[in-house]
Amino acid sequence: MNPNILPNFLKNRAMLTPNRVAIVFKDKRLTFKELYEEAYYRAGVLTASGVTDKAYVGFLVKSDLYTVISLLALQIIGAKAVLLNNRLTVDELVYQLNDARVGFLVTEPVFDLVCKQIRGQMPALNIMGKQDATSYTEPIEKKIIHLADTCTIMYTSGTTGFPKGVIQTYGNHWWSTMGSVLNLGLHEKDAWLCAVPLFHISGYSILIRSIVYGIKLVLHDHFEVDKILRAIEKEKISIMSVVTTMLHKIESAVEKSLPSTFRCMLLGGGPASLDLLNRCMDKGIPVYYSYGMTETSSQIVTLAPEYSTTKIGSCGKALFPAQIKIIDDKGNETSANIPGEIAVYGPNVSQGYLNKGKSSMDGWFHTGDIGYIDSEGFLFVLDRRTDLIISGGENIYPAEVEGVLTAINGIIDAGVVGEKNEEWGEVPVAFVVKEHNVLLTEETILNICKQKLARYKVPKKVYFLSEIPRNASKKILRRKLRN
Ligand code: ATP
Ligand code: MG
Repeated sequence: MNPNILPNFLKNRAMLTPNRVAIVFKDKRLTFKELYEEAYYRAGVLTASGVTDKAYVGFLVKSDLYTVISLLALQIIGAKAVLLNNRLTVDELVYQLNDARVGFLVTEPVFDLVCKQIRGQMPALNIMGKQDATSYTEPIEKKIIHLADTCTIMYTSGTTGFPKGVIQTYGNHWWSTMGSVLNLGLHEKDAWLCAVPLFHISGYSILIRSIVYGIKLVLHDHFEVDKILRAIEKEKISIMSVVTTMLHKIESAVEKSLPSTFRCMLLGGGPASLDLLNRCMDKGIPVYYSYGMTETSSQIVTLAPEYSTTKIGSCGKALFPAQIKIIDDKGNETSANIPGEIAVYGPNVSQGYLNKGKSSMDGWFHTGDIGYIDSEGFLFVLDRRTDLIISGGENIYPAEVEGVLTAINGIIDAGVVGEKNEEWGEVPVAFVVKEHNVLLTEETILNICKQKLARYKVPKKVYFLSEIPRNASKKILRRKLRN
């Protein structure tokens, strides 16, 4: 017996619970049996186009039913999906397609112009419409999967530098799925709402969980708060994955509370201010704050429900299969409450990047994020190491200052970076985006900061901008602000 072999996820699920609803997209609704049949057919179409288990297939698509079907078709064949962020520029896309040696690109008409430009730079690329079906060849189905086999390639967001192609195996996804359920539990009528992109690990991981757990996935191709609230009610959604900006909008739009069927708002991907978490708590929105990255195939640390009030602001403890520690500059583990680099370990952690070798050292992946673990073992994420501001020997974490700024009425967005200073080495400066027609001066903003922050953390200057530079994953590009 080989403990590293499992049945094909979707085939197995379709055999176990064929008639349960698998996916809802707009007015379409497929059971697991129907989803498997659709994916099998698509696998045949891809096979006829020359896709084999060795192929790396790029996806430049929107998040909809046909994307799901095509992604699952690749799992039937055993081909690897290279998920591309559809907001990237042509040059960024070409870089990733070349880096992953992609031979086939699955796409759709809205990206025609982009594809034309890509083809100009990559004439040999085989570009296929995700709904095209010119011919069909019976696919060679992978009835079993090896946990060590590559399932997906996903590029990091490129927030700190060039995006890196993370190799995610079936085992990484499987253990991520197990870690999540051992924390959140599984209820018979669970339904997971996905309004985050499928090309990002936040969305793709929901697809895997839906299949492994046998629960309904309700897919939205974009985030629109009114539609989301209606879907939560109509589809009896129990879990939803969100990033901070989505949670902001949901919190503002929810008048009293969410329906009683709703049990978990899984928040991740970036910092969230205490102010937002508190407001959610006041409205009874059950937020599970988490920490993770492309390299950990989704969340690796999540606050367990019973600590959501007493440990507010913490991302919790490592999920059952994983481990975390905080290390100092010499690589030694720090004591409780002492900040250092967050290192993670576990079967959900990727073994490496495409063409860049191993991502981990001694099996531990050094994340580049700074945080501390309190005396009871709870992780608090402070910020990225590259964005840390050191002013007169004191550490300033931009995310904390940004949290104070965005809590000010009339400020929509904010970014904080260090500016060189003769006396202090570096001082924090703020960039803010105001709401239209709001009278808010630098002086007022700084006075509010002085009430909420230690003197050395208060920005020395406030610059007003019309927008904060963010990457295709909507993360602040502080390196651009620094320039
Ligand atoms: P790159 O690695 O290319 O610079 P990226 O790190 O932004 O891009 P992702 O994998 O999408 O790419 O994002 C993971 C990062 O998001 C984490 O390393 C961390 O910096 C940030 N992050 C995730 N969860 C949290 C959280 N709860 N609090 C603060 N930051 C978080
Ligand atoms: Mg990263």
